[in-house]
Amino acid sequence: MDPFGLKVIFIAFLVFVPLERLLALHPEQKIFRRNWANDGLFLLFNGILIKLGLLAVIATIIFVAARIVPESFQAAVGGLPYWVQIPAVIVLSDLGFYWTHRMFHAVPWLWRFHAVHHSIEELDWLAGTRVHPIDQILTKGVSLVPVVALGFSEWAIGVYALLYQWQSIFIHANVRVRFGPLRFLLASPEFHHWHHSSDREARDRNFAAQLPFLDALFGTLHMPKGQMPTSYGLDRPMPQHYVRQLLYPFTGDRIFQSKPDTEALAETSQVPAPK
Ligand SMILES: [Zn+2]
Ligand SMILES: [Zn+2]
Repeated sequence: MDPFGLKVIFIAFLVFVPLERLLALHPEQKIFRRNWANDGLFLLFNGILIKLGLLAVIATIIFVAARIVPESFQAAVGGLPYWVQIPAVIVLSDLGFYWTHRMFHAVPWLWRFHAVHHSIEELDWLAGTRVHPIDQILTKGVSLVPVVALGFSEWAIGVYALLYQWQSIFIHANVRVRFGPLRFLLASPEFHHWHHSSDREARDRNFAAQLPFLDALFGTLHMPKGQMPTSYGLDRPMPQHYVRQLLYPFTGDRIFQSKPDTEALAETSQVPAPK
């Protein structure tokens, strides 16, 4: 039993900390960068909340799909060879991820949840853990709907989940690794760092989790050749505190403030998605 996923955290620490020293994209960034401890709390407590939420979502999908999708169809899909199932699961899930992620940017009340992830100002292997649990449960849950409902095998979905977990750590890491021509096929740190960039022209770009060609297909790809972003984060920083960030979608900055900042209240009550 490892409910907090401590083994993965420990292995990721051992792999990525030396890698970030050897191949640093931003060499001035420290291992224990700003708000590292806050993201450590996300790492410890978010995982278990997300697992519970996703279990409930998957149980619901199975329950509903059993009434809609013929059992023979599910059995046929689950019986396909793994070299067909695994790529199909990756493409279908990433399509679901792409559109849910894009909605989280476009719809103001959803953006309030997703802004927590975009509040990171220094990216590293740990940064991907800073995600509001409701954001993560909905985004991952929607991405799993087609593959669970259509009957893809647990094994194929498990391989996808493992790839997703490690790739999420990798694409946030502070490493200058470029994929050359493969950069349009597989998400890289280059691809996802632009998603977090505070540059205007990078806003609302690079929504896919694993397959950048989906962004090319839907007109949202941004990977200028030979360039990397220099700064990350929101125009208006949010409180860098675990509990405040969990409450942020519901309260904005309102609670914990002794003197309300009227300008901040006006802004957080709308929290426009960045354009
Ligand atoms: Zn985003
Ligand atoms: Zn990210």
